[in-house]
Amino acid sequence: MTMPHSYDVIIVGAGPAGLAFARALAGTRLRIAIIDQSPAATLAAPPCDGREIALTHRSIATLQRLGAWQRLDPAHIAPLREARVLNGERSFALSFAGPHEGDRLGSLVSNHHIRRALFQSTVDQTGLTLLAGTNIRGVRTDADAATVLLDDGRSLSARLVVGADSRFSFVRRQLEIGAQVNPLGRSMLVARVAHAAAHRGIATEWFGHGQTIAMLPLNAPRVSSAVLTLPSAAIDRLAALDGVALGAELTRRFRARLGAMAVLEGPHVYPLTTTYAHRFVARRAALVGDAAVGMHPVTAHGFNLGLQGAVKLADLIAEAAQHKRDIAGDILLRRYEAAHRLASAPLYASTNLLVRLYTDDRPVARIVRPLALRAAARLPMVRTAIARRLMQQ
Ligand SMILES: Cc1cc2nc3c(=O)[nH]c(=O)nc-3n(C[C@H](O)[C@H](O)[C@H](O)COP(=O)(O)OP(=O)(O)OC[C@H]3O[C@@H](n4cnc5c(N)ncnc54)[C@H](O)[C@@H]3O)c2cc1C
Repeated sequence: MTMPHSYDVIIVGAGPAGLAFARALAGTRLRIAIIDQSPAATLAAPPCDGREIALTHRSIATLQRLGAWQRLDPAHIAPLREARVLNGERSFALSFAGPHEGDRLGSLVSNHHIRRALFQSTVDQTGLTLLAGTNIRGVRTDADAATVLLDDGRSLSARLVVGADSRFSFVRRQLEIGAQVNPLGRSMLVARVAHAAAHRGIATEWFGHGQTIAMLPLNAPRVSSAVLTLPSAAIDRLAALDGVALGAELTRRFRARLGAMAVLEGPHVYPLTTTYAHRFVARRAALVGDAAVGMHPVTAHGFNLGLQGAVKLADLIAEAAQHKRDIAGDILLRRYEAAHRLASAPLYASTNLLVRLYTDDRPVARIVRPLALRAAARLPMVRTAIARRLMQQ
């Protein structure tokens, strides 16, 4: 006789993907445990981490469905009206805007606000148990159950375990799922800055020689998020500067396009590593969010993609539960994997190609870059396709 399971689903990781997945299962009557190493107080009110997440229209609609969007303070939602890509010293810019005057390409919301809103919409869900401040020691699965061993010696079992524990996923390793892991040797520095000129809702991504710098417009006309990518050692040196010196350095590196900049918050540093799991599922197990696909942040797809994948898996599980089928059946898990690979593989590959093209300073790449931009500009179809992808209705 098999022992009764402690839960139906155990989720490891209460980050944005794990929380969205749990929330999408509301109303299924499944018993869910969500485990995170951070204490409950940190999950409830996460500190600012400097990430400004560019959300597509589709993600906004999903967050509305999950009851999280309504919990955001409108003052924390910044409209993104246009995105411009600049190359090297040339003045030519490739511009993406919505098809109609006043259209938004999407909205920018700070990651910690998204996390807080998702936490609030999930924490009191019927059937959900939060195990915060909890580390796990092991995960194993067999034909009947998934078992998660906690650091305090307790052992929990469920019909399904879901790894939502970041791009360096411990669950993924425990399940012996391999992954492409590419440390890029570069880091991203992000800081909130005030500047003299208004940004007019325009995001700018400038691929200069030897550096990439983006300015993301926030919800005040003269406040942006500065995002600078350089080799990791150079970023570490800049992160050690005081606020005044860093502001001056960012102003210089952005050629004062928005006037003088002063640092308001940050800096935060992210060493860049992209990851792609060889499989997204295993026996009685699945990976969601960055644990499945850890995108390069430059094209702002990581969370958008993770959110769609998490909701897709939850919808398949909800349907199986409703028809009293196995919520961790082989066919169900493979359907999730196939759908999420189809959505993520082309984006992952094209983002990596873009990053290689624009961080390669060999003469041939310098020649190809402007040609690629001008070719894209001459093909309205390409521009419209990218704008549509950004807007994803
Ligand atoms: C600078 C920057 C800018 C970005 N901009 C965008 C953007 O504009 N648009 C976009 O779509 N995406 C963007 N992203 C990507 C986005 O932030 C991630 O895709 C998203 O945060 C992934 O969510 P997640 O829940 O999968 O993982 P995470 O956010 O990494 O959360 C993982 C959770 O798991 C917990 N955890 C980890 N290990 C364990 C363990 N062993 N046991 C228990 N708990 C554990 C952690 O405490 C954490 O709460 C950006 C990323 C960066 C770095």
